Amino acid sequence: MVVSGATIDSLLKEKEQYPPSAAFRKKAVVKDDAFRLDAAKDPEAFWARMAKELAWIAPWSKVLEWNLPFAKWFVGGKLNVSANCLDRHLSGARRNKAAIVWEGEPGERRVLTYHDLWREVNRFANVLKGLGVKKGDRVTIYLPMIPELPVALLACARIGAVHSVIFGGFSARAIRDRAADAESHVIVTADGGYRRGAVLPLKKIVDEAIDGLDVVRHVVVFRRTGVEVTMREGRDRWWHELMTKADGECAAESMDATDPLFILYTSGTTGKPKGIQHSTGGYLVGVATTTRYVFDLKEEDLFWCTADIGWVTGHSYIVYGPLANGASIFMYEGAPDWPEPDRFWRMIEEYDITTLYTAPTAIRAFMRWGDEYPKRHDLSSLRLLGTVGEPINPEAWRWYQKTIGGGRCPIVDTWWQTETGMILITPLPGITTLKPGSATFPFPGVSAEVVDEKGDPVPVNKGGYLVISKPWPAMLQTLYKDPERFKQVYWSQIPGKYFTGDGARVDEDGCFWLMGRIDDVINVAGHRIGTMEVESALVSHPKVAEAAVVGRPDPLKGQVLVAYVVLKRGEAGSDSLRQELREHVRREIGAIAAPEALYITDKLPKTRSGKIMRRVIRSLVSGQEIGDTTTLEDPGAVDEVRKWLAEVEARKS
Ligand code: ATP
Ligand code: MG
Repeated sequence: MVVSGATIDSLLKEKEQYPPSAAFRKKAVVKDDAFRLDAAKDPEAFWARMAKELAWIAPWSKVLEWNLPFAKWFVGGKLNVSANCLDRHLSGARRNKAAIVWEGEPGERRVLTYHDLWREVNRFANVLKGLGVKKGDRVTIYLPMIPELPVALLACARIGAVHSVIFGGFSARAIRDRAADAESHVIVTADGGYRRGAVLPLKKIVDEAIDGLDVVRHVVVFRRTGVEVTMREGRDRWWHELMTKADGECAAESMDATDPLFILYTSGTTGKPKGIQHSTGGYLVGVATTTRYVFDLKEEDLFWCTADIGWVTGHSYIVYGPLANGASIFMYEGAPDWPEPDRFWRMIEEYDITTLYTAPTAIRAFMRWGDEYPKRHDLSSLRLLGTVGEPINPEAWRWYQKTIGGGRCPIVDTWWQTETGMILITPLPGITTLKPGSATFPFPGVSAEVVDEKGDPVPVNKGGYLVISKPWPAMLQTLYKDPERFKQVYWSQIPGKYFTGDGARVDEDGCFWLMGRIDDVINVAGHRIGTMEVESALVSHPKVAEAAVVGRPDPLKGQVLVAYVVLKRGEAGSDSLRQELREHVRREIGAIAAPEALYITDKLPKTRSGKIMRRVIRSLVSGQEIGDTTTLEDPGAVDEVRKWLAEVEARKS
């Protein structure tokens, strides 16, 4: 990635503020600023204090060993992640508390107490051992969102195997590349999973993926749907058969804090997926701490993170963070609009879910489907909301706050990445005054800065490059088998600092505003504009649900803005609406940002993690051929975007 030009111009002027209510603050885990100030004084001492909340087999001798760019946290310390997430809860009141409350898409329910989960994990750990999996071996996991997925993760952690989870929506090709890269001898999958009433044939996809891939010796298959599968003699085994034969107890392996816990390939929004490698001790400290303080965790909460465990959000805030805290998590297998667009709201009402953590792309879809669906249900059990994955447009934020949160729930807009492992920029809901569209402040003990291309701080309200200037516990260790790429991608842009690839500004109160990816910044007549602000201006129009903005080369202005707009349900596009929307942007943020061309469309092309594929759209509208499509997660996506663009343009004429 080339960092060029100077800072980014900021146009968005969002002024609303939402201080925490007295009622929320009174019961909050963090009620005053001492927590933050304390951490700022001595971040390493702060993280060491947080680490002491976990169960260690042997204490560390050094909190942090920092050989730029390689950080080692809790050096010399020994622990086991599954013992922290399970065993230590068994001796007290949490023994029979729900660990997982699950609903399948067809409607079945399962509840696993901590003791139940412990039993399953022990057995499955023995199953893996029986298949020859040893400490340090990689296990590939390709499962639907069923309780067996956290069971498989925790079983790996129990015996010190490194898991590599592949999102259930990925293709055979993605599995093949990743299983080969990780050299996994074992793949754990299911016959299928439910999605919008249909069965996704996971085992069949795995068969195709590993055809001729000799490194894979065993495939463990969980029977979820009953669809017919071919079991290859000697290689494929049924989960239930192995489990009945397996021993009920498996000692938790003593792991070094610096041993790898998992590899996770990034979602590939901007290019070839990177195998992000995370540690055992530092990672667990980071996610356990942020879960507790960001989500203001209470013993009686039912915490629902809607991400798939195939993404880092699910690793950190469905499995490891909440379970390390002894929380009850809610898990749902299927689609949010199945059988109707009120599925989420129905489940929140039925289970009295207290905390909802979801993505802006989902929130904008809910807005688009209309208020009638949440209005059908009593959502008063909710007390805290969260978002992650993309900048949240202020308009979507307000809708979420009012329509879902009843005006009562704080929203934690959490900025982080697969690489960071844990939330790094976020409100603390008991003390932070919220601003729609801002992720607010670095988490205590985290040092974030916005700098120019030389690494110097930019002035207040000037956009620049978001960097992290000190190591944090859940920081990635390296890129799997590729330390050179690790150095080049994250540590070569701004010397000595972790380069996030995102643009941001810091306002007069010290709040961080994410402006989109640096690669997506548009250069119009000498002004550098972040995509987020123009998209937000469009979304603030009452008829607009969602927007994508990209730059197109222009002989006079350098680049001009091209906007793609999705309208709310029931709204129709017209020339006058297009004109009105351009005017609206001009009024909201200025003439410089008014799109040169504006197209109305039914949907925006997105990655499988739900993010808008600006890079592909930009290349195509700029007439550039995307040379090497193999660097894209999903090469077929380019053709889809090309088709989509042709349709969008045809519709205009
Ligand atoms: P790849 O790195 O393969 O292109 P990706 O960056 O989409 O994929 P993730 O690690 O899941 O993969 O996403 C992290 C990115 O998501 C961040 O760098 C940022 O651009 C965006 N993001 C996440 N949370 C927020 C947030 N709260 N506000 C703004 N942007 C966010
Ligand atoms: Mg990324």
